[in-house]
Amino acid sequence: MGDEPVMATNDDASECKRGAVLLGYWTDDYISYFVKNVEKRAPEINRGYYARVKGIENFIQKFINKAGSSAQIINFGSGFDTLYWKLKDEGVQIANYVEIDFPSVTSRKCYMIKRNKPLLDRIHNQDGEIKLSQTDLHAGNYHCIGADIRNIAQLETKIQQAEVNFERPTLFLAECVLVYIENECVNRLLKWISSKFKSGLFVNYEMCNMNDTFGEVMLGNLRARGCNLAGIAHCKNLDMQKARFLNNGWMGSTGWDMVQVYYAFTETERHRIEKIEFLDEQELLIQLFQHYCICIGWLSIEFSEFTCSVD
Ligand code: SAM
Repeated sequence: MGDEPVMATNDDASECKRGAVLLGYWTDDYISYFVKNVEKRAPEINRGYYARVKGIENFIQKFINKAGSSAQIINFGSGFDTLYWKLKDEGVQIANYVEIDFPSVTSRKCYMIKRNKPLLDRIHNQDGEIKLSQTDLHAGNYHCIGADIRNIAQLETKIQQAEVNFERPTLFLAECVLVYIENECVNRLLKWISSKFKSGLFVNYEMCNMNDTFGEVMLGNLRARGCNLAGIAHCKNLDMQKARFLNNGWMGSTGWDMVQVYYAFTETERHRIEKIEFLDEQELLIQLFQHYCICIGWLSIEFSEFTCSVD
């Protein structure tokens, strides 16, 4: 089996996100342009996606507050993520935003951007020039590029086409991506970043604590769908995920499971989302949260003090 089942995990994530948005967990004015299907998911799944999206957004906000308008964001395995458009609507100024996924995924994304005026309008640069190929799109400070992130030579060429500046503070995002990638390739990617970029932060959302029965069931479901979980060895625990940064030239690293992330949200916000859907069993949600984490790595001292607390 090739990479198709892994690419299909993007459709699943996007459908789940759209479903949670429709129920009011969070606002996303753009996800419906990328996904039409919505399947009803269990309340635990919706709440899990809420914690994932809000947990990552919290770090994005902290990073941008610190790095300012010279910040760059590189989103690995971005799928149909809509963060660029959300930041644009919020008036957030950054120097560069790059999305990378397999060419078959980016070609679908480019097509949908091209077809939907509200998406296209927000990526126009001042002179309106958009460079578009089947799989890549470059416009102003937005770049969507098709590349396999296991292939560093290809990645480097594409990153240059996206006008990434190695001197600028850069936020690297990977949301449920590295688990599908062989450990040697993740190590190579992390090493390449730490050797090229001067300052930055990596935010990785991933499975963790997979050694118990609950974890085995989660992995069994993914394997049954044909996914190659090449990076699963590093998801055994959070310490291994942290060590991966330190072993590949990063200055420091830390992390939290999603129970910690969820309980770091304000009480008001938790009460709001807990009223959206009734949970039969709180226990199941906690188990789910115990099996996911956010692990961060930093290249420079200014990003070393972030925690999962909401400012
Ligand atoms: N990050 C998005 C989100 O959370 O909504 C999508 C997550 S989806 C579970 C995983 C994504 O990683 C897919 O879009 C897949 O194509 C991408 N991916 C996995 N391995 C990759 C690789 N070697 N190179 C580029 N993209 C990859």
